[in-house]
Amino acid sequence: MKRIIVDIDNTLWDFASVFQERIKEVAPEIPPVNEWEWDFYMEYISIEELSRICNEIHREQDLFTPFPASRFFLNSLLDEGYQVIIASHRDENSRAATERFMQKYNLPYTGLHLSNDKTILFDTCRAIVDDAPHLLDEAKKKGLICTGLLRPWNKNSEHPLFNSLEEVLDYLLKELNGGR
Ligand SMILES: [Mg+2]
Repeated sequence: MKRIIVDIDNTLWDFASVFQERIKEVAPEIPPVNEWEWDFYMEYISIEELSRICNEIHREQDLFTPFPASRFFLNSLLDEGYQVIIASHRDENSRAATERFMQKYNLPYTGLHLSNDKTILFDTCRAIVDDAPHLLDEAKKKGLICTGLLRPWNKNSEHPLFNSLEEVLDYLLKELNGGR
């Protein structure tokens, strides 16, 4: 099994900064990103508003830039012989913009999974790179190697999370090569 799940938002690009700008338009009192916890927004906006804002951003995905190390990160995994399944919690109507983003910045991948349930990929994948703590918890139960970028909303999780994609890559390759 040589498939790895790689998230997009807050993994390959800085979704949080854009999200904060947009959410501020409807809820000016939201705290700065470094104070966010997972689901922090629930005190400030409705779930409908949240979905609308996220979808708006996702449909403009190609207007934003990836993290500088994203290309190297994906390339390195493919070079090592792994399949990279890009998986993002977003609507199907953002697929074209997402594909344009990946293409525009030469971000290579094997497959693009857009849905509200990444767990359906777990049975066929070896590892997951994601910032969502609850998702990493689920993946760990299924025996996947779990890692990702360290962010304010996952800093209290017990997963091995890192400040850079280079560090995530180092950890991931070590675990993949040393593991099953
Ligand atoms: Mg994410």
